[in-house]
Amino acid sequence: MASVEIKDVQKHYGGFHALNDINLSIEEGEFVVMVGPSGCGKSTLLKAIAGLETVTSGKLLIKGRDVTKLEPGDRGIAMVFQSYALYPHMTVGENMGFGLRMARRPKAEIDAAVARAAKILRLEEQLKKRPKQLSGGQRQRVAIGRAITRSPDVFLFDEPLSNLDAALRTQMRVELSALHAELGSTMIYVTHDQVEAMTMASRIVVLNRGRIEQVGAPLELYNNPANLFVAGFLGAPRMNFVTGKVVEIQGRSARIACASGLGVAFDDLAEPAAVGDVVTVGIRPESLRIDGEGSAFTFRGRVRFTEYLGRETIVYLDAGDLVTTGSDSGTGVFTAQIGEIRPFPTNASVSIGFDPGHAYLFAADGRTISSAKPAISL
Ligand code: ATP
Repeated sequence: MASVEIKDVQKHYGGFHALNDINLSIEEGEFVVMVGPSGCGKSTLLKAIAGLETVTSGKLLIKGRDVTKLEPGDRGIAMVFQSYALYPHMTVGENMGFGLRMARRPKAEIDAAVARAAKILRLEEQLKKRPKQLSGGQRQRVAIGRAITRSPDVFLFDEPLSNLDAALRTQMRVELSALHAELGSTMIYVTHDQVEAMTMASRIVVLNRGRIEQVGAPLELYNNPANLFVAGFLGAPRMNFVTGKVVEIQGRSARIACASGLGVAFDDLAEPAAVGDVVTVGIRPESLRIDGEGSAFTFRGRVRFTEYLGRETIVYLDAGDLVTTGSDSGTGVFTAQIGEIRPFPTNASVSIGFDPGHAYLFAADGRTISSAKPAISL
């Protein structure tokens, strides 16, 4: 039996369609991360599962039970918010036991649940303190502890790490993954941070404008995005997109011509294309080579600026007449990611290449018609 089932869910705010035909089945013990840009509907969907927001139509089931019309407290869920939402006048221990006290559970049971959560979250030394005496990361752990003590069927997380600094976010990511492994509970996690999605999820749900664009394991989505939106959303720096035209078709093979003499051949189109079709070629920054030996499809570019990140170099390149869209730094700019530190003087003219097996092809409506072949499949 699925842990959570979302069936044909729609949500309207007046004339605005915030959730459009959402269908999703989440298995027991999955860590599902919902990602998407601001306003895509991810918080609305999480709140609908929690019962903090009604749905206009459709059904929500938790462990096979229809909870669509139930109050949040009757759904078997516990939610962790970005703002922690701790009671300042209560100690850490009292905060963590609050849900059980409200449910009038016996004191011995509450104490045991708090002690267990404190051990899991390494908060044993902090139980007598008040929230203001804790760091941001410790406060978020208390909020998670409050959820754990209630032994919910499903944990819901709404951007829980957004208020933490970068180092703490990384640490908490690892802790949350370890917590999931230890508890084995179903977790649904909302974030706009694709790194959190890639690192923690057993499955990612990519949302855009109230619709699900694609659902799948992180590397499955990274390697085989269903469309241009998913391809552009997952991956930092973003995939480079170049406008081109189909100039030759032979069976399932196509040759694409872009500006500046750049031509790219694809030999495994998933669906037919016709000569004259306008298409988009996608190349991830890590697939580009600069002054690359052995790389096919070489074109010329000029170094605009370079970022040295310690173990890799990000190079922003002006690429002549090539029409690029949606890249990190705007039209006409290519981003290359080199896995070592190499100096690239500003304004230097360089040759840029890539292995054609690492390119993607998208139809005019954004659907993927050819995917790159990943170097490594897990
Ligand atoms: P963010 O990352 O910015 O929080 P989100 O993906 O979580 O974005 P939601 O909060 O789910 O987005 O909102 C989805 C859309 O619904 C937005 O366009 C928002 O303006 C709209 N919306 C949300 N709540 C309401 C409301 N109570 N009344 C009207 N519109 C709303």
